[in-house]
Amino acid sequence: MPLTIAMDGPVGAGKSTIADAVAQRLNILHLDTGAMYRAIGVGVMDRGGNIYNEEEVCALLEKELRVSVAYENGCQKTLLCGEDVSRRIRTQEAGTAASAVSRYARVRKAMVALQQDIAKKQSILMDGRDIGTVVLPNATVKIYLTASDEVRATRRMNQLREKGDETPFETILEEVRARDYQDMNREVTPLRRADDAILVDSSLLTFDETVQAILDIVEAHHAE
Ligand code: C5P
Repeated sequence: MPLTIAMDGPVGAGKSTIADAVAQRLNILHLDTGAMYRAIGVGVMDRGGNIYNEEEVCALLEKELRVSVAYENGCQKTLLCGEDVSRRIRTQEAGTAASAVSRYARVRKAMVALQQDIAKKQSILMDGRDIGTVVLPNATVKIYLTASDEVRATRRMNQLREKGDETPFETILEEVRARDYQDMNREVTPLRRADDAILVDSSLLTFDETVQAILDIVEAHHAE
C-alpha cells in the first residue's frame, strides 16, 4: 500500500519547506499543490487576463494553460505549457493571483483531478488547502499545520528581508490575514481542518522540531 500524507494549513505555516523535509526523510515524493494554482495565476497574468474574472480565467485554462509537474532529483518543477515556472511563481503577486483563481470551481476540479492522478502512482506527501478534505480523503495520515498569525507574518517578513524587501510588519500581517480570510471563506472547498487531521501548531517549535513532530505522527500511524 502506498503511503499518502495530506498536509493542509494556512499561508505562512511553513507547509512547503516542512513538507519537503518530511518527504525527504521518508524518501517519498512531495507535491506542492499551491504551485499549480500559482502557475495558473501567472499564466493568466502573462496573457493580460483578469484574475478576478472567472469566465476569462476558465476560458484561458481550458484553451491554453497546461499545468504539469516534473521531478528532478526528487525536486518538484512546476511547468506551464512546458515552460519551467518554478521560480517565477514564488512572488507575492503570484500568491495573490493563486488565491484569486483557486476560488473558481472549474479551476479546482481540473487541479484536483491532476493531483489525484499523480497520487495514484506512488507514495506521496501533498501539501495544500483541501488535500485532507477533498484530494486525498483516504490519506494514511492527515496533518493540519498552523501557527499564530503573528508568527506566520514574522516568518514571512524574515524571508522578505533576506531578499532585501522592507515591507513593514503590519502590512505583511494584514496580507497574511487577508489571504486566510479569502482561503477560509471562499464558496468552493474553503480551507478547513479535516475532522481526522492531526493539528500541529508550530508557533513555539523550531523547524527541526516541527519536522520531527510530523515524522512521529506518521510513524505512529504507520505502526497501527
Ligand atoms: O501554498 P501556497 O501559498 O503556494 O498557495 C497559494 C494559494 O493557492 C493559496 O492561498 C490558496 O488560495 C491556493 N491553494 C488552494 N488549494 C490548494 C493549494 C493552494 O486553493 N490545494
